[in-house]
Amino acid sequence: MDEMARLKALSARAGADPRLVQAAGGNTSLKQDGVMWIKASGTWLRHAQERDIFVPVALEPLLTALDRDDPACENCTDFVRTDLNSLGLRPSIETTVHASLAYRIVVHVHCVETISWAVRADAEAMLAPRLASFPWAFIPYRRPGRPLATEIRKRLKADTNVLVLGNHGLVVAAETVAAAEALLGDVVRALVGPTRAAPAADLPALEKLAGGRPYEPAGDPAIHALATDAVSLAQARRGSLYPDHVVFLGAGIAVTQPDEDPGSAARRIGLSGRPEPKLIAIPGKGVLLPKDTTPAALAMARCLADVTARLGEDDRVRVLTRDDELALVNWDAEKYRQSLPAS
Ligand SMILES: [Zn+2]
Repeated sequence: MDEMARLKALSARAGADPRLVQAAGGNTSLKQDGVMWIKASGTWLRHAQERDIFVPVALEPLLTALDRDDPACENCTDFVRTDLNSLGLRPSIETTVHASLAYRIVVHVHCVETISWAVRADAEAMLAPRLASFPWAFIPYRRPGRPLATEIRKRLKADTNVLVLGNHGLVVAAETVAAAEALLGDVVRALVGPTRAAPAADLPALEKLAGGRPYEPAGDPAIHALATDAVSLAQARRGSLYPDHVVFLGAGIAVTQPDEDPGSAARRIGLSGRPEPKLIAIPGKGVLLPKDTTPAALAMARCLADVTARLGEDDRVRVLTRDDELALVNWDAEKYRQSLPAS
């Protein structure tokens, strides 16, 4: 098996684990003969073995452009090796993250164990003892694309091979796929923390509230923890914790007041100029989602339940600002990703 086949196998494994990757999130890459093969925007890692999801990007011109802070680094389409890209795929919005690391293999995941630390206001201090044995760096939140790549390049040392991206996720890098997978496992194990189990949803109450409205109880039972666990609810309602949540589910979550219509709870947040939330928490009862919820949005709702189940009552989280939220939904590269089929 060659390294590309090994990378596809690792990508499919990681993509099938909801604790590592949700929907089209996360991406992997391989640098070979001056070309970086990177997951295409909007494709799913879990499909890595059955579909062509990798795009060839010319590495040197991209690195030169990054040095100049060239706007072409925003979506990286100028660097695609069109002679090798028969499907016309577009590179991941996180291509510059992969190019910035000199290692041959780079794996980026939205690991819930990592995110549950990375959303904390004290993330770097809390992570330091847990990651002391790794050459790691903490990168404060920046919008993916050029701003994130610039911040990474500022903080990288020659041997850095683990990055925790604030309010975002994890990056590991190595010279071989096997070494990258081993490193990923080691880092995730170092970050595992306690998880709360939540009371079950009150499905009859949710069905009644959804009746005649464009909502239905969340299809994945684990999602209801966001509303049935008081600590998860308190943390989730503080705001948007990471970019893919905003992109797929709008700003944070809406929480209904007693006897309030779920739609009006969502509109209250939309009226403040933030992207209207799609996820409606009914305290103590469970979660309603729009009937037209995509598989990607469902995976993101599950991710939020998984992340907040790992946050304690007294953990102070850092949420994205309204400007952060609007920068994500108004970003052209992100609109392209959204325009692709949902699975
Ligand atoms: Zn990411």
